[in-house]
Amino acid sequence: MTRKYFPLFISFMLLLISGLSILGLINQATIKLDTEVPITLREEPGTNQVAIAELEPGTEYQIQKSENNWLLIETQNQQTGWIPNWQLENPMITDDQSLAGQATDNTVLYAEDNVSSIALENIPPDTYFPIQHENNGWAQVEYAGRIGYVQSRFVHILSRDEVPQEELEKQEVIPEEIAEEEELDENTVIMRQANQVFLEQPDYDSEVLYNPDMYEEFQFISATENEQGEFYLVANSNGNRGYIESRVASLANDSINHQNEQKVHSMNDAVIVIDAGHGGTDPGAISQDQSTYEKNVTLSTAIFLQNYLEEMGATVIQTRADDMDVSLADRANLSNQNQADVFVSLHYDAGYDPALSGTTSYYYHQADYDLAQSVNEQLTQGPLNNHGVLFGNFQVLRDNQQPALLLELGYMSNPQDLGYIRSEEYQQNIAQAIANGIRNQIENPTD
Ligand SMILES: [Zn+2]
Repeated sequence: MTRKYFPLFISFMLLLISGLSILGLINQATIKLDTEVPITLREEPGTNQVAIAELEPGTEYQIQKSENNWLLIETQNQQTGWIPNWQLENPMITDDQSLAGQATDNTVLYAEDNVSSIALENIPPDTYFPIQHENNGWAQVEYAGRIGYVQSRFVHILSRDEVPQEELEKQEVIPEEIAEEEELDENTVIMRQANQVFLEQPDYDSEVLYNPDMYEEFQFISATENEQGEFYLVANSNGNRGYIESRVASLANDSINHQNEQKVHSMNDAVIVIDAGHGGTDPGAISQDQSTYEKNVTLSTAIFLQNYLEEMGATVIQTRADDMDVSLADRANLSNQNQADVFVSLHYDAGYDPALSGTTSYYYHQADYDLAQSVNEQLTQGPLNNHGVLFGNFQVLRDNQQPALLLELGYMSNPQDLGYIRSEEYQQNIAQAIANGIRNQIENPTD
């Protein structure tokens, strides 16, 4: 009889032990905000990431994970987000935007937030410096007049109020006085679209300080990326700092080596690089029924375009001849190395809204606007509506020192557009239109 009850007793004990250990874990994984000020809860572990709530002092939360001195916590209404553990440990830090650091050891200032990037400087122990933001174990800092990154585990994070002002000033990056002359220096950022925003933080929800004018110039300070995209921290002509989206801005530096003059005036002399977008492991957009991949239709369109251009006498180079991976940098390099007279990148669009439809021509360097205009004029004669010529900050254009444009030739997410995109006839017609537009620009430039 006793043997019969023994397993029951064991099970009961096991239950009790596991119950206790679960209680222990819960106890261990709860945190009470012993702070004097609210703590900002962020979507990702970074002070430059999107703020989702302010957590009041004294409130308690469950910790789900701890990583790089950030805690992933869950609120009572099941909302999760990250708070900086280092802020909980230092009551002097009253907000996560005016931070300073003190090196705890010899540490390296890196060009980017990884240890394989270029080492810019060695920072001796005890040195103070301003921190612009701390993101998942890396602090973006100003040191010796330059911007770089240090590993946060070698940094004691402080409030700027705790550090002598002159110690911070020593390290600060001073945006150069914007020249009175219209001369652009390599650190000039130019706003390329109208109705944009100058933000207090790299976050669309932060305060809009004002709406910059198209072609307004800024001094570049640094670039930062988060899940909303890439932002440039810039100073305007009054010295005010703020963030603009890199998508709508260009760096004067990018156009320094750009070939602005059209060198040939006959298709027989022209070298044209055709870039079939995507390829290999990168399918690009995929139709909703999974049957059509952007990488395949860009390639077939590219081959039609090659035939038309060769018929017109041009020498054609393709960035890829079949379904293969080619990096964006290599695509632009191929154009640069061959001193292409035209680089044209072919794409088909996709959007969340199935109603989106039509074609668009993009350029990056101001000098390439006329080329984009000439090709786009031909696209307007196609069956799909046209969105005109737009500025686009695409790497294949940005890195291109040769006249370059990128074409979006219809929306794969739109059933009607997709019907056209799949048809050989549309691909041939659009390829012919592009070839005509390129020839018009080469043989009868508008300027
Ligand atoms: Zn694409």
